[in-house]
Amino acid sequence: MIVVMQKGVSEKDIQAVKDRLTANGLIIHESRGIEKTILGVVGDKTHSLLQNLETLPGVEKVISILSPYKLASREFQAEDTVIKVGDSLIGGQEIQVMAGPCAVESKEQLLLVAEEVKKQGARFLRGGAFKPRTSPYAFQGLEEQGLAFLAEAREKTGLSVITEVMDTRKVEMVANYADILQIGARNMQNFPLLKEVAKFDKPVLLKRGLNSTIEEWIMAAEYIISSGNPQVILCERGIRTFETYTRNTLDLSAVPVLKHLTHLPVIVDPSHAIGKWRFVQPMARAAVAAGADGLLIEVHPEPSQAVCDGPQSITPERFGTVMADLRKIAPVMGRSV
Ligand code: PEP
Ligand code: MN
Repeated sequence: MIVVMQKGVSEKDIQAVKDRLTANGLIIHESRGIEKTILGVVGDKTHSLLQNLETLPGVEKVISILSPYKLASREFQAEDTVIKVGDSLIGGQEIQVMAGPCAVESKEQLLLVAEEVKKQGARFLRGGAFKPRTSPYAFQGLEEQGLAFLAEAREKTGLSVITEVMDTRKVEMVANYADILQIGARNMQNFPLLKEVAKFDKPVLLKRGLNSTIEEWIMAAEYIISSGNPQVILCERGIRTFETYTRNTLDLSAVPVLKHLTHLPVIVDPSHAIGKWRFVQPMARAAVAAGADGLLIEVHPEPSQAVCDGPQSITPERFGTVMADLRKIAPVMGRSV
């Protein structure tokens, strides 16, 4: 349920409504917009309480939200959520590009990519220190050493760092190094992990699960927001379909749908969606045309030598051509890169 307060309502009236709600055992999430204050109410509500609230001073209307997600919904917050990381805004006018290798392999590899993607205009460096690999025998990541290399690359380049956290016991460690915590596709419904990342004051990039519907995905975002962290970024990274030529199927329709249903920033990862470097560039262009707020792209100095996801990694040189394309397409969408 959402309680929309009248424009110019007094603090006293807002407090009276909040007192009434908490007295009924309900939890309130307050959203103060430029124009209006909105109270998002979660919990078991009775019909009469809902009706009576409208009679309180300062209440404009009470809306029952039919979708299972509340705080992530556009009804709760009409304005887009814009997340500030360093000097960059995610979900604002500027398209944000996060680029780097699948895995942090060595200090040299990471610093080289970081310098290159920075030169081409990226503001964020991606790289996994904890890798969710299908095979237990595959490279699992450099762990804390990898995080330290990421922090060093940030020092040297000024890029902000995004990296994946897979384990509730490691969230604090990862949060000490990262600017954005990434929840991977395989952990989208790891509910204890979603609650744990909500405890830290860091934005969370939530990837779509391999077999998840849009509603399940927004519900996962709802877990993070309702646990206290409203800084959630959604990342479409392809879903499993009957098609096998590409690694996954990039569901670009999710971009406008999410923009309609939620106020959260939406970014697209064409690398994991397609799995083949050749098709990353056209789908990066399409993502921006579909209204994405940013891109997550795997870039490796020598894709043939990559320990992880080489076939879908593009070279720094090609990454430069992707950025050049985006600079042409973004203005058509009223945006910049
Ligand atoms: C990644 O970003 O390297 C990754 C493992 O992605 P996903 O969780 O989407 O498979
Ligand atoms: Mn990868």
